[in-house]
Amino acid sequence: MDQLRFDGRVAVVTGAGGGLGKEYALLLASRGAKVVVNDLGGARDGVGQSNFADAVVKEIKDKGGVAVADYNSVVEGEKIIKTAIDNFGRIDILINNAGILRDRSFLKLSDQDWDLVHAVHLKGAYKTTHAAFAHFKKQNYGRIIMTSSNAGIFGNFGQTNYSAAKLGLVGFSYALALEGAKYNIKVNTIVPTAASRLTEDILPPDMFEAMKPNLIAPVVAYMVHESFEGTAQVIDSTLGYASKVHFVRSVGTALKKKPSDQVTIESVKEFWPKVMDMNGAKHLDKIAEVTLDLVERLQEFEDRA
Ligand code: NAD
Repeated sequence: MDQLRFDGRVAVVTGAGGGLGKEYALLLASRGAKVVVNDLGGARDGVGQSNFADAVVKEIKDKGGVAVADYNSVVEGEKIIKTAIDNFGRIDILINNAGILRDRSFLKLSDQDWDLVHAVHLKGAYKTTHAAFAHFKKQNYGRIIMTSSNAGIFGNFGQTNYSAAKLGLVGFSYALALEGAKYNIKVNTIVPTAASRLTEDILPPDMFEAMKPNLIAPVVAYMVHESFEGTAQVIDSTLGYASKVHFVRSVGTALKKKPSDQVTIESVKEFWPKVMDMNGAKHLDKIAEVTLDLVERLQEFEDRA
């Protein structure tokens, strides 16, 4: 297969001073992209600021690549996109990767823990994407990645703030993919699991050693390549594996025996096992399919009435 390259493309990677973002930036630059290495450079709870994006830019330049550092917070995402335009005259790829953790069990969580996590993950992705989207629409081309987490998809103890924000990004990507479709803007989501400072005290040491972030970078790079046609895809990746994640809905059941019966709390209890039965569960791909399904049920409802 021909090498997949990014010559002439400009990529912004947020939170690229370390961890996964750094690997994305290094890989894209090694394949010809000009890269904005954004990182606020704070601690993992979002406190503080530093210029550690510089080391990644140096590494890219030392290898003959092109990159520029940006130290803005994603909360002011428009400034990061301006860095791309000012330095490289365009933007083609946006990888929303910046993230922080403020884990606490729910009653110990403060408003600040909630707000800061939402600000960085959700609002940060919104602000940065909003600024980039205008360019993408004008040039009829754009590739966007959101970063979710299994903590969002399945929930995780002590991470209500983070889980809520991370699943929010999936909904964001689904809706934006619809808006981007006619402008050749693809919006997809990565669900990574990798060794980084966010997971050093969570993953057992042998797993931590094996879960190199550079094993996920090719998956993300493929999903932002011009040949990638997929959109609204949510891809779980770790250890050199990748798999698609999507919601399914059970076939479900009418909540009464005869059309003339009432739906009561008791009938709901009676039919609950069928509500929960996932045999033959359906994946509805678009909201239009949900609407169609609703219309069919309405017809059935009227026929039975
Ligand atoms: P990391 O801490 O190494 O990387 C996150 C980077 O984001 C840091 O360099 C940090 O300085 C930067 N950052 C934080 N706030 C910022 C802000 N306001 N503006 C700009 N930059 C900011 O951790 P990582 O594991 O590489 O995480 C990358 C992304 O992947 C995060 O969104 C994280 O939630 C997500 N994620 C990681 C894992 C994993 O297993 N490592 C699992 C699920 C999701």
